[in-house]
Amino acid sequence: MPHRKASKEVAQPWTPSEEQMALWPEISGNEINGLGEPEQRRPTPIYWHDPSATPHGPLQRWMGARSASNTELLGLVLENAGLQDQPQAPVEPTAAAARTPEQWSEALRDVARGAGAELVGIVDMDPQWVFEGYAVAHAKVVMIGVAMDYDPLNTAPEPEASAEVMKQYNRGLRVALEVADWLRSQGEEAEGHSGPQAGPINLIPAALAAGFGELGKHGSIINDELGARFRLACVLTSVPARVDAPRQFGADGFCENCRLCTAACPVDAIHDEKQLVRGVEKWYVDFDRCLPFFNEHQGCAACLPICPWSRPGVAPRLAQKLGRRL
Ligand code: SF4
Ligand code: SF4
Repeated sequence: MPHRKASKEVAQPWTPSEEQMALWPEISGNEINGLGEPEQRRPTPIYWHDPSATPHGPLQRWMGARSASNTELLGLVLENAGLQDQPQAPVEPTAAAARTPEQWSEALRDVARGAGAELVGIVDMDPQWVFEGYAVAHAKVVMIGVAMDYDPLNTAPEPEASAEVMKQYNRGLRVALEVADWLRSQGEEAEGHSGPQAGPINLIPAALAAGFGELGKHGSIINDELGARFRLACVLTSVPARVDAPRQFGADGFCENCRLCTAACPVDAIHDEKQLVRGVEKWYVDFDRCLPFFNEHQGCAACLPICPWSRPGVAPRLAQKLGRRL
């Protein structure tokens, strides 16, 4: 599967290793993702779920084994596993004092920000976000965003960038677990989730609904403070908190006239036109093109620092300028 495109220091055309491609399944990842499907449906688990239960699971294991040869990455992966396994606080049998939806919302924001979150939003659970094969009884999602440092991210696709991504996934998980523990101390059921392992729901549409920003051409959310320089975590709960709303500030229109991520992707995975995916027209990254490169670089992310919104200090000014035209 050779690809063309000159980008940074990646030799062109870039060709994935035979060892990796020998594990490639018959089915296209784009088909699993619902590319071209006119009807809305729940997402299908594809990557970062149980590798024994997905067609691309052997590739996920192969990527994990490669990452283990990098001491820093291995340490971060083990740290993530330790966090996932740590016992959660018990749910207090007596509910704390009653709060209004506004008070719940403010309290959750305070706890999440106190734990280190840069972004916090709350939304009603949408069953369309729940992966096939999963069930969620909770009625609310507390979305959490944690910033990535620009300089290490800007080394992508080098391992230094992958390490920064993992560090922030771990930070996001710590925030989510702390918020979940606080909710349990208030007598509320709650569970925290963060990448890279996928939880029961697709986090990107939930974060868009929570007002984190707009979907960029590179398939990641553009926020008006951080650009695409953040990672997501969430807490599932049912507290009757006030919910947030989606926000537009001109990022989608900006993507119409920008090709920086498209040109930077070493394997032409980023489409210049929106695609129909499970009944929704949206920016879409070609899974089958991205994944081989992503896997051989223990995570790629080269499309994130190249995005002008991601450069420190740019997003607030750009959002303000474009927002005046909306
Ligand atoms: S992460 Fe995927 S889409 Fe982004 S630059 Fe790398 S290969 Fe391309
Ligand atoms: S690099 Fe340009 S086209 Fe790509 S997501 Fe950022 S603004 Fe949009």
